[in-house]
Amino acid sequence: MSVVVGVLALQGGFSTHIALLKKVGVTAKEVRKPKDLEGCTALIIPGGESTAILKQVRFIEMHDALNLFAAQKPVMGTCAGLILMSRHIVNDTMVPFGWLDVDIKRNAFGRQADSFHTLLEVKLGGSKLQKIPALFIRAPTIERVGQDVEILAQYQNQPVFVRQGKLLGLTFHPELTQDASLHQFFIDIVKNRGLS
Ligand code: GLN
Repeated sequence: MSVVVGVLALQGGFSTHIALLKKVGVTAKEVRKPKDLEGCTALIIPGGESTAILKQVRFIEMHDALNLFAAQKPVMGTCAGLILMSRHIVNDTMVPFGWLDVDIKRNAFGRQADSFHTLLEVKLGGSKLQKIPALFIRAPTIERVGQDVEILAQYQNQPVFVRQGKLLGLTFHPELTQDASLHQFFIDIVKNRGLS
């Protein structure tokens, strides 16, 4: 099955996701307008500034196309991407897309200077835990998870990586490390669902 992963390229760190996808041999495509979603098997919403991404989505009238895509195909959101995918943001008036049944607190670790790097134990299929490097940049926290949401990694007893079926949400940036395990995990989800 051929996989084409779209990366929402309106603002933020889309190019590093594309580079990592290419490294693992997957076709990656910049998504800048609703039509670009055609032919994509899955979508990544990158980190950046969630308010800026949302503003662009509204400006180019892409909201409906994204809702339709997420109802049918796998989506992974990192940091600002997760914020946009969430059901509710507890410390902001922003209304996110609402696909992933989690509540989010933006900038929960403080300012840019409070960004940090750590090793996380993640559950990538089965019960085995794998250690991966993770970079947190003005990261949000996940304040509530719905009953259909599985927690795949925690940091200081708080969820940082969650899955709800074909939707993955991460509060950190795997694409800024050399470790492609999470992207590979996402691609495995895409392939197993046979959604191309
Ligand atoms: N703080 C940003 C926001 O609220 C997210 C930061 C990031 O994506 N690294 O949108």
